[in-house]
Amino acid sequence: MLWFPAPRSATGEDVAEFHVHGSRAVLSAIMEVLRHLGLRLAEPGEFTRRAFLNGKLDLLQAEAIADLAAAETEAQRRQALRQLDGELGALYHGWRQRLTRTLAHLEAAIDFPDEDLPPEIEDRILGETEGLAGEIERHLADGHRGERLRDGIMVAIIGPPNAGKSSLINKIARRDAVITSPIAGTTRDIVEVAVDLQGYPVVLADTAGLRDSDDVVEQEGLRRALQRAEEAEIRLFVFDARCPDQVQGAAAWPGPDTILVANKVDLLRSPEAARKDVMPGLDPGIHGDSACTKRMDGRDTPGLDTDGPSRAPPGGGHDKSGAPGKALPISALTGEGVEGLLSALGERVSQTYRIEAPVLTRARHRQSLEDAVLSLRRGLGATLPELRAEDLRLALRNLGRITGTVDVEDLLDVIFRDFCIGK
Ligand code: GDP
Repeated sequence: MLWFPAPRSATGEDVAEFHVHGSRAVLSAIMEVLRHLGLRLAEPGEFTRRAFLNGKLDLLQAEAIADLAAAETEAQRRQALRQLDGELGALYHGWRQRLTRTLAHLEAAIDFPDEDLPPEIEDRILGETEGLAGEIERHLADGHRGERLRDGIMVAIIGPPNAGKSSLINKIARRDAVITSPIAGTTRDIVEVAVDLQGYPVVLADTAGLRDSDDVVEQEGLRRALQRAEEAEIRLFVFDARCPDQVQGAAAWPGPDTILVANKVDLLRSPEAARKDVMPGLDPGIHGDSACTKRMDGRDTPGLDTDGPSRAPPGGGHDKSGAPGKALPISALTGEGVEGLLSALGERVSQTYRIEAPVLTRARHRQSLEDAVLSLRRGLGATLPELRAEDLRLALRNLGRITGTVDVEDLLDVIFRDFCIGK
């Protein structure tokens, strides 16, 4: 038995740890004895909650423990550890300290209006408040990177029906997560597969094919596909390598966050040529109009038109004019090129989500910070010093709610509910 006397234990209370043989019979005999002594099993998150209440951790660190327990990838583990180390807490604590000082100056000015306070004090209060509001705003404008890293980075697989989107996601997931079939319009809802790409959590979403349809269910699938494509951080636009005109469907999402993927290169007569320069030099191979489905605008895809608008400049993604660039050639059937696609995707993800400065990781933090900025900005515009002081106090309270420095009783149940038992 190990004995950790208060306050130098993890929870800050007296803690006894029994190390016993793990058999069911031994455990239940011990539990029986402990129950007779009036002890009970801990609730989920109860140890962390007690540690928080006894001042061993702030709320951000308590949340980091939950994140650490739930971390599935290396980047998630690292982010949780940084938060547990108190990096984020130190940033918010620093802001609180600065604001407390500013508020103290302001209150002094209110309380002693007749005293000769330096005239520049008002300017200093405004300057400090403005500076802090700006810093919090910059911290908020982080593209939700921390939250994305916690929840998984959304990658939508989009493209015309039958391009091989489901086949690709299956190949990546190495299991039959999505039913593939040669009948267009099989994927009517969104199917998600979580994968670990170079340590980053990525959620791949297979969507319904982008095409016009009279089928109500398919139309709904299309609506969701478009919405998901819009919301995703990165899009893989998959098209049939034999039908390069299909790539025009990607024009709705210009920019480097749309990766073009030419699938079914195994069906091209000369895959070698295609691999070199798949878009402009695409070998028609055995393509025919039958392989190329109707486009979204209802016009028939004319098949390969080497001089047509689908002629694309080299260089991944899209060029500066927004025109689709070179596509990555793959075959979801044979697996050719899939590793290359995954490393391109992993590269893109790690570039965007490699985190240097501490970032906020939860919507809860974001909400409090946004409220704090709102109060600060209102305070800056206030005409009476008393009103300004009230706004600064509100901002201080919002900052305090993130780390749990001010009363957060109402938050605790929500925060600790997600913990697992024994933490
Ligand atoms: P989705 O509608 O875009 O999800 O397309 P599916 O993944 O359901 O694929 C449509 C059809 O194309 C299926 O019969 C697949 O087996 C076939 N297919 C998908 N990828 C490839 C590929 O790389 N090569 C070949 N030859 N066929 C493929």
